[in-house]
Amino acid sequence: MILLDRVSKTYGKRTGSALERITMHIEPKEFVIVVGPSGAGKSTLLKLLTREEKPSSGKIVVGGIDYEHLKDRHIPQLRRRIGVVFQDFKLLPNKTVFENVAFALEVVGVGNREIKHTVPKVLAIVGLKGKEKNYPRELSGGERQRVAIARAIVRQPKILIADEPTGNLDPKHAWDVIRVLEKINKYGTTVLLTTHNQDIVNQLKRRVITIRDGRVVSDKASGTYDL
Ligand code: ADP
Repeated sequence: MILLDRVSKTYGKRTGSALERITMHIEPKEFVIVVGPSGAGKSTLLKLLTREEKPSSGKIVVGGIDYEHLKDRHIPQLRRRIGVVFQDFKLLPNKTVFENVAFALEVVGVGNREIKHTVPKVLAIVGLKGKEKNYPRELSGGERQRVAIARAIVRQPKILIADEPTGNLDPKHAWDVIRVLEKINKYGTTVLLTTHNQDIVNQLKRRVITIRDGRVVSDKASGTYDL
């Protein structure tokens, strides 16, 4: 489902490689944690998958789409298959919880009836039933992140990328968010998580890919946080 074959990325001529011949294979429905020190290349890896950045060399295939042959006009289609959640939530402050999630459907032309049917279901999955009419400022950090997750999964992506989703949260709320990611994974979505939270990595007992200086230095089935 996600295949990287000797992928390298160099940003400028004068800087070194952000990623250096990265090879990895992630099966559908896997839950993978990517760890590494700051500057290791984690964000670059995720940006290559969402096509925010292009590799300098190497092959990337996601869900059968070879990025080398990807036309710009097909990028929105690709992004629909990949949901993304960020550390800073990126919610729209003037929209309610319901409206924030609905917006992701409106922009791709989904009709009102389907929106009214789908959004409550997704809010129930992330444990936010009853918060539909609240604004982001009225929610805790953990709740805001779960709104962001609802928005990311409402179009039923095959892959969910969560880039430091617990970075701004206290341990309890961080775990609430992780439990939601596990649930979504159980329903069949591939989850790719980056985190600096040692506790979360060590307790999840999931596949852990460790990146250092742009290279994969370990890839373990039930890995630990070991930088
Ligand atoms: P991480 O997410 O693990 O902290 P990054 O992927 O952000 O690592 O960064 C990897 C390397 O690439 C770093 O040396 C960083 O300075 C460099 N880098 C990242 N983004 C850019 C950019 N847009 N332009 C130039 N260098 C960049």
